[in-house]
Amino acid sequence: MERWLREEDASCLEQLWGAADAVRREYVGDEVHLRGLVEISSHCIRKCAYCGLRAEHRDLQRYRMTRDEILECARQARDYGYGTVVMQSGEDYGITREWLANIVRAVKQETGLAITLSLGERPDEDLVAWRTAGANRYLLRFETSDRDLYDRIHPPTSRQGLSDRIALLKRLKQLGYEAGSGVMVGIPGQTYTILARDIALFRDLDLDMIGVGPFIAHPDTPLGRGELPFASEREQVPNTEFMTYKVLALTRLACPDANIPSTTALATLNLAQGRELGLMRGANVVMPNLTPVRYRALYEIYPAKACIRESAGDCCDCLLGRIRAIGRFPGTGAGSRKHHPYI
Ligand code: SF4
Repeated sequence: MERWLREEDASCLEQLWGAADAVRREYVGDEVHLRGLVEISSHCIRKCAYCGLRAEHRDLQRYRMTRDEILECARQARDYGYGTVVMQSGEDYGITREWLANIVRAVKQETGLAITLSLGERPDEDLVAWRTAGANRYLLRFETSDRDLYDRIHPPTSRQGLSDRIALLKRLKQLGYEAGSGVMVGIPGQTYTILARDIALFRDLDLDMIGVGPFIAHPDTPLGRGELPFASEREQVPNTEFMTYKVLALTRLACPDANIPSTTALATLNLAQGRELGLMRGANVVMPNLTPVRYRALYEIYPAKACIRESAGDCCDCLLGRIRAIGRFPGTGAGSRKHHPYI
């Protein structure tokens, strides 16, 4: 794994792209599943050292969508033919257990869509209530498998103490959620060995969904200001588009039947082709943004994020065009992971 992560020779890498694409076709087919993303709240109690939504950004204009606004986005997802709606937010305890459970029930009843939640490290009672209400999947990136590096960039909160995302992912699976996770590529201090272990951990956790994207720090954060140390020149993983494709391809080879998105962060580094290259090097999912345009610019995890001015309809048309242009076709139905009998 490490040798491939260090490989720079273009013709060798053609073999890697080809192998990942062949495995993707064999295990998950040519369908590209569309998951409609709704960024329901920009409030957050955490202080992740790279993120524009961190709690210490007190002058940021924050928002929390209303129940009606969220339901309207879910209806749009259904009308555009997406099989899933993804509700994502910072770790916001203004999103209460009951309030969200009611919304999950209403979305399910009205649209029948699969529901993915991505709301941070919530207490067990919340996760149980939302699963019971009908949520199908939960996304929680572990960001790095290296405990020291994790602790350096994720200071603990007084609310929940030390975080253990690996244990939470196992618990999500126990509760019957499809569990999704992932990492950032090129975090200062991330070595090739750590990154190879991250990919091995995807496989060991038997994840259903895996998102990998390049590390992009918001400039007004400790990591954006260069306050954390890099590994030595030989060991530090660069946060490039190219490296992200290698991780994507190796992830597909390690986890052949997982659902793997071509991320917005890739499109941010290469608006013309990033998403397509991701789809051609292992990915089989895209996440068109359904967040109302008036909120999108306020959900600024990192600056210059791709697609923050386009309407939901523009995003849909754009992505369908891109999928067809590379000879693939949009998926139908929920697009849940189908466990392959030989894995
Ligand atoms: S990465 Fe997520 S949990 Fe961390 S500060 Fe940003 S929104 Fe909050």
